[in-house]
Amino acid sequence: MHAHRAALLHCLADPREVGIEQSYQYFEDGLLLVEDGKVAQIGDAASLLPTLPAGVEVVEYHDALIVPGFVDTHIHYPQVDVIASYGTQLLEWLETYTFPAEGRFVDPEHARAQARFFLEELLRNGTTTALVFATVHPQSVDAFFEEASRLDLRMIAGKVLMDRNAPDYLRDDAASGYDESKTLIERWHGKGRLHYAVTPRFAPTSTPEQLELAGRLLREYPGLYLHTHLSENRAEIDWVKELFPERKHYLDVYDHYRLLGARSVFAHGIHLCDDECRRLGESGSAVAFCPTSNLFLGSGLFDLARLEGHGVRVGLGTDVGGGTSFSQLQSLNEAYKVLQLQGQQLDPFKALYLATLGGARALYLDEQIGNLQPGKDADFVVLDYRATPLLARRLKQARSLEEKLFALTILGDDRAVKETFAAGRSVHRRES
Ligand SMILES: [Zn+2]
Repeated sequence: MHAHRAALLHCLADPREVGIEQSYQYFEDGLLLVEDGKVAQIGDAASLLPTLPAGVEVVEYHDALIVPGFVDTHIHYPQVDVIASYGTQLLEWLETYTFPAEGRFVDPEHARAQARFFLEELLRNGTTTALVFATVHPQSVDAFFEEASRLDLRMIAGKVLMDRNAPDYLRDDAASGYDESKTLIERWHGKGRLHYAVTPRFAPTSTPEQLELAGRLLREYPGLYLHTHLSENRAEIDWVKELFPERKHYLDVYDHYRLLGARSVFAHGIHLCDDECRRLGESGSAVAFCPTSNLFLGSGLFDLARLEGHGVRVGLGTDVGGGTSFSQLQSLNEAYKVLQLQGQQLDPFKALYLATLGGARALYLDEQIGNLQPGKDADFVVLDYRATPLLARRLKQARSLEEKLFALTILGDDRAVKETFAAGRSVHRRES
């Protein structure tokens, strides 16, 4: 058993559903008890300290706030090296930068080195769970899961399915994509804290046969995820219309192949019609809101109020390398601005919810992660109020928790993450 003493904050519910006051729990001087990788107890230090068994080590953090590990509902591990690539929108960006970078993952040693760097970067930014695109190569998934299991992380990933409209070196075919996915599912799905996602890149790069087989995989193995892109960019949407003229809209392509439902996660969902929003909501599907990517690639503004109004589960995604930061704090900074431009306000507690429990709900993992309730995985982050001179100065003048939290999301990034824990173990400590 270990004990961590600091200010503690976690979400209990969506502020939209229960009101802000009821949506979180905060302990100014809190204690978090961890046993066997799970949260054993959380509460006021004053009341919990006297109950600790003899010999339990208490680690104290000053000027710090413990929050649950961040959840990233959409990211590409093979795209680390194309982050910050200049001058294009989605389709040209894929051709120019992304496909060549993904081609290199045919080499398992390259994949392993990239997976290692990627996971370190996630942890440096306080992200303990992510829904991750690999490449079309099965070895890219093996490398990722091997590295994730070494750190005992809760991660979701899958081999990209892509059998048309992509360079030869990145194409599978419907049958090989299905067979390779099956092998990977049997090897990795449910092993430790790992989950598998059936991962068609997006409708334009899969034939109807491949989408059909993706649906079959979902029905053959319970608990799988479906991870793809939806309605990110206008030219992409026109292309989907050309390729699938018989479908009533973009989402209907996925719906037709029975790819919607619990644990289906669609990245972006920017230019949706009402019918698409309604189907996403009623099917229990989730959408990943990826503000840094949507702004960087000039894709558009995500309408959070509209999606939530249709009962759609929404998580926060970085979408690296279309996104420009691994940091969910920076994603929240940009999310705030994206919503400001549409006359919506992102309350700081709602922001924390999106980056933690909301993401867990979008992934149907809120029984395991997302907050620090006893019994959940002990995945948490120690945020440093003094990470930078500017942050320290601003927080010193904050009069409320709300004000502190807001400043953390606007000014914070990987420097604000002092230490990251996964299953109770320290997996990243910032060098000071
Ligand atoms: Zn993406």
